[in-house]
Amino acid sequence: MANTEATAKRWMQWLLEREEIPFRASLAPYFANPTFSRLCDCGCNSFDLAMTEKDLPLLCAPGERGGMFFELDYELTEDRQLEFLFFVDKAGRLTGVDIEVSGNNFPVPESPQIGKLTNVRQSRGCAP
Ligand SMILES: [Zn+2]
Repeated sequence: MANTEATAKRWMQWLLEREEIPFRASLAPYFANPTFSRLCDCGCNSFDLAMTEKDLPLLCAPGERGGMFFELDYELTEDRQLEFLFFVDKAGRLTGVDIEVSGNNFPVPESPQIGKLTNVRQSRGCAP
């Protein structure tokens, strides 16, 4: 599906409802009034945020460098999976979520039929 701010906001709402995200309450302040720095147009639905307000909750302990700290995968049809990869900056703030199908080898479908959760991965020191 075309990657617009409206698309990103739909995914944000969906993510906030996922009980399998233990830190979803900490995502709410980022997603309530997001400032986007990038909406990828390769066919994925990834978005980056440009939000550095000091009162935003930290999702990881501050470190040397940021990066991916959390992944959720769901089954789609035809042996494909929908993947959500969460990233932080070195201060521990959310910088974006990559939303892609099977390692970004396929575009995100227009109306994905999201199946069961197949994988949750979390880095140490993150997402308490
Ligand atoms: Zn992309």
